[in-house]
Amino acid sequence: MRKILLLASLCCVACCTTENVAPQEDQREVKNIIYMIGDGMGLAHVSMLQIEGGYEPTVFDQADNVALITTYSANNRVTDSAAAGTALACGYKTNNSMIGVTPDSVEVRSIIEKAHDKNFATGIAVTCYIQHATPASFYSHLMDRDDKKKANEDFIASGVDVAFGGGRVYFERFDKDYVQTLTNAGYNVLLDEAQLATVEGDKVVGLFADRSMNKILEGRGDYLANATAKALELLDKNVKNNSREGFVLMVEGSKIDFRTHDHETEAILAEMRDFEKAIKVAKEYADKNPGTLVVVCADHETAGTTIVSNESDFRLSESGIEYKYSTLGHSGVMVPVYLYGAGAEAINGVMDNTELSWKLQELIGVKE
Ligand SMILES: [Zn+2]
Repeated sequence: MRKILLLASLCCVACCTTENVAPQEDQREVKNIIYMIGDGMGLAHVSMLQIEGGYEPTVFDQADNVALITTYSANNRVTDSAAAGTALACGYKTNNSMIGVTPDSVEVRSIIEKAHDKNFATGIAVTCYIQHATPASFYSHLMDRDDKKKANEDFIASGVDVAFGGGRVYFERFDKDYVQTLTNAGYNVLLDEAQLATVEGDKVVGLFADRSMNKILEGRGDYLANATAKALELLDKNVKNNSREGFVLMVEGSKIDFRTHDHETEAILAEMRDFEKAIKVAKEYADKNPGTLVVVCADHETAGTTIVSNESDFRLSESGIEYKYSTLGHSGVMVPVYLYGAGAEAINGVMDNTELSWKLQELIGVKE
């Protein structure tokens, strides 16, 4: 009886409180999403990071929740980054080499495009060029992933607030005055990475390389972590200064895939460590800013990467391990998803890559 009375009085408090709350008050638990994609990053890549770090906890080990996603595309059990990017960004399966469209060429919109229309700030930070398949999946609609002219046009039309990466030549190829064109579209245009440290403003495009950014082993430094931190700073200010609903930032460790295609173990490890630094920046932001969900996943696995023992007799102690690659292309295995912060509990289990996108869209209230 006492319990019932207590429940009744609690209910009354809740009802009275609800009456006093302004009807427009935002009830969403998740306001910001930092969507981080390790291109080509399978479980072997994450395991490599653990092994080579002596099993000291990595940022992946600190996830609040994990899930697995399938990666197949509409026309191939082994996807490319265009179809996989479209699934993660838009929630639709498409054919390999198509971006932001269904296999029958109907345009579908991404979480970034929908968020932009619903008064969110949006951003992209990558180590490839910004017209590359994964970032383009978040703002473009291409029958062919190599249609960089349309990728440029779609980028400008998308209204993405902050974008950092390479890609100067792909703008210049179709528009000699691309800096002026981007400026006319409202962007503060940076062509020198040193400007990242001091840049201000709501709309910023940093094009720091003609094509992709350097390899990490060839002097890229902490670009990705710095670009992630700067993008978060600019988006955070944008949200606060302009009463935005929140933000969606996509960050890609693009070159994990490139180096894995080349079977360069040392370079893969370096790209993984670099991606981990960017994840730490995102996680620190989420720790300090309630309402932020960090999602770390991959678009597909590259090269069928495996970790094998040199000694096939498992009754013996180990005599060393070897990283092996079973293809020059991609593989069809599922890839991991790591979740940190607000809403992390809402995503777990085995799901399709399209389902992950819809869940994220739902969490920030932009699902249509
Ligand atoms: Zn690839």
